[in-house]
Amino acid sequence: MLFEKLTVGLDMYGCPNRCKHCWLGVTPNGKLSIGDLKFVANEFRPFTGNLEVSDRYREEDYADNYKELWEITTKLSDTKTPHFENISYWRVVRDNEYVPWLFSLGVRAAQLTIFGDEKTTDYFVGRKNAFQEILQTIEILLHNGISPRIQMFIYKNNISQLPYVQQLIETLELEKRSANVGREFVFFLHQGSCSGENEKLYNMWITQEDVDKIPTKLSALTAKHFGAIHILDVLGEPEQELCKKLSDDSSTNSIVSNTPIFFVDKEFNVYPNYETPSSFWCLGNLKKDGAEKIIRTYQSNGSIAQHVMQNIPISEMVKKYGNPESMRLFAEWDYKNFLLQKYCRGL
Ligand code: SF4
Repeated sequence: MLFEKLTVGLDMYGCPNRCKHCWLGVTPNGKLSIGDLKFVANEFRPFTGNLEVSDRYREEDYADNYKELWEITTKLSDTKTPHFENISYWRVVRDNEYVPWLFSLGVRAAQLTIFGDEKTTDYFVGRKNAFQEILQTIEILLHNGISPRIQMFIYKNNISQLPYVQQLIETLELEKRSANVGREFVFFLHQGSCSGENEKLYNMWITQEDVDKIPTKLSALTAKHFGAIHILDVLGEPEQELCKKLSDDSSTNSIVSNTPIFFVDKEFNVYPNYETPSSFWCLGNLKKDGAEKIIRTYQSNGSIAQHVMQNIPISEMVKKYGNPESMRLFAEWDYKNFLLQKYCRGL
C-alpha cells in the first residue's frame, strides 16, 4: 500500500452555478454514470488501505440521486468524512426531502455564499434567482434546525454592499435564530484565492484603503471565524510588501503527501487538490494512462506546476511576475500560488 489515505473526487454532474469567483474554473456540466464512479474507485483502490471516494468536487448533492450516491460512495470508501457544511441551495428550494436528509446525517450548520443584494449576488453567481433561493434556503434550514453560515467574497465592486449585508443579517435575526437552534451564528468575508475564475477579478481586488469600508461588526465576526486578531490577518498584505518580502526568498516547495486528494474531471483528467484544475496541474488521464502512471507523476512532482514549484525559487517568480506598484491585498500563501500560475502560463 502506497498512501496512508487517498481521497478521490469525481466531477460527475458539475454545478448549477457559474460563479465569477469559482476557483475550480467554469466548465460545462457532465453526466457520468455510477459505473464511471466505480471505475475511478477501482483504479485507485490498489494504492491505499484507506480510500475515500466522493461523487463530486463542485456542487454538493446536485444529482437527483444524491442519497443513492451517498450510500454508494460510503460502500466504496474505507473512511467516510461526515457531510460537509457545503450544501446545494439549488436543491434546497426544489426538493423538500433534502434538508431533513442533511439533518439526519448530522449537518447542523450550512454555508451559503452571498455577494451583496439581489442584483449583485445574481451577477456574481451567474444565475438569476440565486439570491432569492438563498433567502428561501435560510428559512428552510432554520425551520429544520440547521444554522445558516454566511460567507461573502469581497471586491472593489461589491464592498459597498457590506452595510446592506449587515442589515440583512440583523433583519433576519440570524444571530438570535441560530442560537434558537443551538448554534452560534457565523459570518465571514474574504477575497478567496486569486486562482481559477477569481484570477480574472485581479483588477477588482481590494486594497488597503478598502479595509476601512468594512463594518466593525462584520470585521469582528470574520476575525473570530478565522481565529485571527485583526481582519488584516485574514485579508493579507499589500502586493508591494509581498514583492519586497519574497524577492530574497529562495525557497521551493513540493505538495507531495502521504494523504493526497485527487480531483477527476468528467473527461477523467486527474489533478491534485491544490490549485485550480488546469493543464499545468494535470497528472494524466485515468482512462488513457491508468492510476499507476498518474500516481508516479504526482510523486515525482511530474506535472508542470509541481515541477516549477519544486525547482524555481519564489524570488524568481516575483522578479518575473510580481507587481511592486500594486497595493492589492493578498494572503502570502495565495500570492505565491498566484505567481506560480502566472509562471506556468508564461512557459
Ligand atoms: S464556486 Fe462552487 S457553486 Fe460556484 S460555480 Fe464553482 S463549484 Fe459551482
